[in-house]
Amino acid sequence: MNAPLPATALQAVQAADLAALSLIEQSVAFASVSRDSNLPIIEWIQDLLQAHGIESHLSHDDSGKKANLWATLPAHDGETKIGGIVLSGHTDVVPVDGQPWDTDPFKAQVIGDKLYGRGVTDMKSFGATALMMVPELLKRKLKRPVHFAFSYDEEVGCIGVRRLIADMVDKGYRPAGCIVGEPTGMQVVIAHKGKHAYKTSVRGFEAHSSLTPQGVNAVEIACEFVTKLKSMHRKLEAEGPFDPLFDVPFTTIHTGVIAGGTALNIIARDCDVMWEIRHHHLNSPVLLFNEAKTFADSLLPAMHAVASGTGITHTLNSVLPGFATDADSEIAQLCFRCAEVDSALGAGKVSFGTEAALFHQVGVPTIVCGPGHIAQAHQPNEWVSLAQLAWCERFMRRMADEICVN
Ligand SMILES: [Zn+2]
Repeated sequence: MNAPLPATALQAVQAADLAALSLIEQSVAFASVSRDSNLPIIEWIQDLLQAHGIESHLSHDDSGKKANLWATLPAHDGETKIGGIVLSGHTDVVPVDGQPWDTDPFKAQVIGDKLYGRGVTDMKSFGATALMMVPELLKRKLKRPVHFAFSYDEEVGCIGVRRLIADMVDKGYRPAGCIVGEPTGMQVVIAHKGKHAYKTSVRGFEAHSSLTPQGVNAVEIACEFVTKLKSMHRKLEAEGPFDPLFDVPFTTIHTGVIAGGTALNIIARDCDVMWEIRHHHLNSPVLLFNEAKTFADSLLPAMHAVASGTGITHTLNSVLPGFATDADSEIAQLCFRCAEVDSALGAGKVSFGTEAALFHQVGVPTIVCGPGHIAQAHQPNEWVSLAQLAWCERFMRRMADEICVN
């Protein structure tokens, strides 16, 4: 994503120039960490919309402590269901526990040319800026409906939005496009990788550590498996296949957690490995998994020769599909114009997953475009530049010019 910045994005921006700043600050003040209820921020959004006569529909999780919000600004002719655009974002943020913050993470603060706070990049600024536009969109009247979709539990596996999307389909909404406002530096992202996450569990056989031939060491076997994963990763990195539009242009394999053993003088019985494949469309995650599994299977005869009951099992813990929207699609072209990026240079593909894939799966052409950069997400002292926030406001205003009657 090396598109040149529009000239307006290079101008110095003051906090006073930002119409959405107050709404961003208010939304950051809700400490909507995924493990806690998001109802306070959802009710705040509901009240904001209600003040303009817009009803919200909430879909709760099974505990009733979290909810998605769906709301529609109708078109001038009263149409609410067919066509139009979804502006989508998640309300949850990642925790701040143990992170060395220099400011109160839940009190957004402008320092110099940046705004600091948990969620300013990932991803409360996009939602607040979209909400800021509501009075203008209603006043200028819409050619087609605009929908707001705010979800819970994105940060723990895109959980909430699945229910929101099922509801959207059930109720007969057929939006023509969706913009997910995850941080892309306001570049228009038309694809991201898919992710398959696995847990591989090695069951060995315990023995005194002085009697290694009589035991099956689960930790060592897990390490052999991880080494295989790493060699597969290195091959992908060296040989591809490559899609140069991605920030990381090849499919990656990564081990995040390895846990096993109980004491140095005991041959470890159990070891678990948590690992993932993040693949673009040129690789099949199933084939890559099969290669890893075939290697694991090759270790079994030696394990069984020492002790029956040993083994290696694999669990597919989560799947997030990838997505790819045509750069020539209506929604992508609209976003190129609104973000003021050249469609030939500005189309990007990213390696991190988003809710976009799930909208895409039900046939809604979706792009990802929002202020801030993923590098600042989930970090202590998370920040977004005021220039990015101004760019997002311009994006929304230019969009209003295209989708409003007046
Ligand atoms: Zn996010």
